[in-house]
Amino acid sequence: MSPTAAPPVEPPKAGPSRLRRRAAAVDEAREAEALRRPVRRRTRRSDHPDDFEFVRLNVPCQWACPVLTDVPDYIFAIAGGDRDKSYLINRATNLIPGVLGHVCSRPCEAACRHGEPDLGEPVAICHLKRVAADFRNQDHQWPDRLFPDSGCTVGVVGGGPAGLAAAQLLAALGHGVTVYEAMPRLGGMLMYGIPVFRLPRELVEAEIGRLLDSGIIVKTGVHVGHDITVPELLARHQAVVLATGTSLARGLAIPSGDLPGVHSGLDFMMNVNDGRPPAVGRRVVTIGGGFTAHDCARSVLRLGAAESYLCVRTTEEDLWVTREEILETKREGVRYLNLVSSMQIAGSDRVEGVVFARNRLGPVGKYGQRMPVAIEGSEFVFAADMVIAATGQYADTTLAAAAFGAAPRFDPRHGTCEVPGLFAAGDFCTGAATVIEAMGHARRVAQAVDEYLTGARRLRRVVRVRPSADTPRPRAWDFIPRADMPMLAVPQRLAAFGAVVKTGFPAPVGERESHRCYLCHMKYEIRLADCIACGLCAAVCPRDCIGPAAAAGPGMPPVWTERWDEAAAVVIDSVRCIRCGLCLRVCPTRCIEVERVEIADVAAGE
Ligand SMILES: Cc1cc2nc3c(=O)[nH]c(=O)nc-3n(C[C@H](O)[C@H](O)[C@H](O)COP(=O)(O)OP(=O)(O)OC[C@H]3O[C@@H](n4cnc5c(N)ncnc54)[C@H](O)[C@@H]3O)c2cc1C
Ligand code: SF4
Ligand code: SF4
Ligand code: SF4
Repeated sequence: MSPTAAPPVEPPKAGPSRLRRRAAAVDEAREAEALRRPVRRRTRRSDHPDDFEFVRLNVPCQWACPVLTDVPDYIFAIAGGDRDKSYLINRATNLIPGVLGHVCSRPCEAACRHGEPDLGEPVAICHLKRVAADFRNQDHQWPDRLFPDSGCTVGVVGGGPAGLAAAQLLAALGHGVTVYEAMPRLGGMLMYGIPVFRLPRELVEAEIGRLLDSGIIVKTGVHVGHDITVPELLARHQAVVLATGTSLARGLAIPSGDLPGVHSGLDFMMNVNDGRPPAVGRRVVTIGGGFTAHDCARSVLRLGAAESYLCVRTTEEDLWVTREEILETKREGVRYLNLVSSMQIAGSDRVEGVVFARNRLGPVGKYGQRMPVAIEGSEFVFAADMVIAATGQYADTTLAAAAFGAAPRFDPRHGTCEVPGLFAAGDFCTGAATVIEAMGHARRVAQAVDEYLTGARRLRRVVRVRPSADTPRPRAWDFIPRADMPMLAVPQRLAAFGAVVKTGFPAPVGERESHRCYLCHMKYEIRLADCIACGLCAAVCPRDCIGPAAAAGPGMPPVWTERWDEAAAVVIDSVRCIRCGLCLRVCPTRCIEVERVEIADVAAGE
């Protein structure tokens, strides 16, 4: 165990009497000497596995973000009132921070230390991203070019989040990029899938619009496969990235699943977003529990349906959408039918209802959710005059299959395949995922393309370690409750389809929420040579995560102990530590040092 790794046992709390004894034992001359000593820390970049492991365990929000957003750093910038800086920190790896501030699936919040059972709720990381975007003063700034022109060009097929993220990084790496997009507008599902009441289109256009003047060529209205083939693109460019998403909806594979009145959720949302909403029924049943299903169930209420039901095989707890979306869906009047599986569409000429079977929760599946198990003989008919099936999407591989005889097999991690120069990114390669996952994947694929074109790995992932001052956070900030996102009143939402539901944090609320972040990228470490094991730090620590460790034998790291008289070292369990800084402030020899750590992709050789 390294001194900063998780301890095998809970550390002891120093009692007041022991504290007094230890405090009295402090050698004043030694303390004075320690205070005079110059700070020896320096900035460094590390690719040592221990440093990556430290970030994985200690900065869980950055580690969980598929584009490795430097979360504590951007939240710290908001706390300091610098929303422009916060926006640019986001923008370094994410070309659409404002968009993600509205619709991100927030893997970071699920990992946030503040959400641990005894620490309250996660920081509203995603809403703070929106604060930075909403209140920044300056115009968007495109990240700097990392390398000069390579002389190579890359064709990116698909202008959704994945295609655009790949295009952005490839351009920064010095390659000429042309994006081929079938639809009239860029954005993919941001433009044609997600409804406008969750994501204003001006924001999408503003954030991706700068692609047009950043040297990237955009060709909209070009359907690759019809207007130009993949081999033709490969002849035109040195590499081609397919980022065409999952454009085909899985139908309802049940009897009468194609009766009139049954719609595909994906097609329904695309028609709604294209300004051609289909006529909706009075009593609408939507089957499915993902983003698309929720958007359909909420949209039909805005389009005139009297009743909207969302039917899921398991329970709300097992759905992938955020709790907030579920709550707002319910507030708008959508009713959930949990633990049901559709067996058949009822009706002869058109939909009259759905035959469902009831489920119970069975064993835990591979993603940790309980699996549904059908209850025999539990079928019942649920009346409906419109059914929307939002039960999944898959990639249309025909554009590559038609060209090469069989669909190339893409490596899911780096998007490579057996055809030289051909790559795949985002949902097209991984299957239906989320915006931020598609972008994270595309950035990885862009690096694989760069390596293919240049024969070198030109971006290096490092842990940047910088000296830092003590935390500026007073302890009281640890007790600020999480702020709720203000929402538009339900009647106003239902009255106007485009009325945006989440109205955004006012700036002061955002600033207050930013104060909640512990700044876990701070690394507290004890300079053992100067530690006198006085126990003052342990006495003030609110998390019982600093304390004595006894020698465990030659070559072995020290282990936590109850006894200060056995202390061979004083260690910090940094995974429990909330970076309050109390230990540092009471330490009489100032032997606790603070550094800031973060993961970054830097040009190799830098
Ligand atoms: C209704 C709905 C709601 C969603 N809500 C959320 C949400 O709230 N949060 C979240 O994180 N994720 C959400 N998702 C998922 C998210 O939108 C996708 O994971 C993400 O857009 C995938 O990005 P992509 O670039 O891989 O694919 P896409 O966004 O699908 O983009 C693919 C692009 O390729 C173009 N294209 C396709 N074929 C061709 C061709 N032959 N030639 C040229 N261009 C072509 C398409 O027109 C499109 O622009 C939602 C999805 C849907 C459908
Ligand atoms: S408290 Fe802040 S730094 Fe720590 S995990 Fe949460 S958002 Fe990240
Ligand atoms: S992009 Fe999403 S996952 Fe990454 S930090 Fe922002 S909200 Fe979290
Ligand atoms: S920073 Fe706070 S929580 Fe962390 S070891 Fe020091 S006193 Fe304990």
